[in-house]
Amino acid sequence: MWPQGWRSVESPAGSRYSSAVLPTGLVTDPGFLAHDTGPSHPESPQRLEAITRRLDASDVRDRLVRLPAPLVDRTWLETVHTARHVDRVTEASPEHGRVYLDPDTPMSPGSYRAALQAVGGTLVAVDAVMEGRVANAFCAIRPPGHHAEPDRAMGFCLFNNVAVAARYIQQRHGLARVLILDWDVHHGNGTQAAFYNDPTVLYVSLHQYPWYPGTGRADERGTGPGEGYTLNVPMAAGRGDEEYLKAFDAQIGPAVRAFAPEFILISAGFDAHRDDPLAMMELTEARYRAMTDAVKDWAAASATGRIVSCLEGGYKLTALADSVGTHVRALATLPT
Ligand SMILES: [Zn+2]
Repeated sequence: MWPQGWRSVESPAGSRYSSAVLPTGLVTDPGFLAHDTGPSHPESPQRLEAITRRLDASDVRDRLVRLPAPLVDRTWLETVHTARHVDRVTEASPEHGRVYLDPDTPMSPGSYRAALQAVGGTLVAVDAVMEGRVANAFCAIRPPGHHAEPDRAMGFCLFNNVAVAARYIQQRHGLARVLILDWDVHHGNGTQAAFYNDPTVLYVSLHQYPWYPGTGRADERGTGPGEGYTLNVPMAAGRGDEEYLKAFDAQIGPAVRAFAPEFILISAGFDAHRDDPLAMMELTEARYRAMTDAVKDWAAASATGRIVSCLEGGYKLTALADSVGTHVRALATLPT
């Protein structure tokens, strides 16, 4: 089922692109399918197969270059996670069967490598954007990351992919200000915890509230020097495109423009879609398109277009494939 024939970014063709027509990077790897969560778990390998099938069948494929997902070096994990957490995940990795780090978060024999690859692929995407090989990138990775806190795995997440990427952008590439926009329907408690007292990373989340994991009230705004650099936009169940548009126009857009990020990471969950079984929001594919276009405008204004988007949730396979399809088309500057 894994599509063949994607252009590799290392191929000589990669050097033909002028900046005006830079492709969009796509991180994929069969290793992500080896994270086996069990037959009834919503965070399934079939999610990535549905996404890949959709992209492969579309003309957007011609605007994508595939990026590899190597295992991340432990040093980078420890820019966000405690050594104790990394040790615990490493030691929990089973030789057969499944172990559970929390009631929702299983590990199979392939999970540990997949988790290291999810972070590693995200960092490769950052490098590709920083080096001008791609205009931006989407990382079709799993396990997801935004619930993973510095010292614990949680909610399907082992390591926090976007949080490590934010530190990597700062420490490896020397940029000062990073925006993490999290539109997964669940609050990204792990990402919030990683940067709660840090004014160099603006964390913005739109999410259903009250809902899992219980955090994300509007008055959670950061602490100490980080006060004002966490922006939570909780939404009651049943909200949809109109309310998200209002939040972007009235709250999020002005905050992002004032912050002037030099790099934008998206925690791209698609479980606020109206068909998703794990939440009760009413977003359509059109809103994912519009949100992506808004992010591109912000990135053009202060970040020379630099965006890396990482898959988080999204559990209805058709809605997930449709939403990722329109998101990636927007990244690749193709009409929907
Ligand atoms: Zn979610």
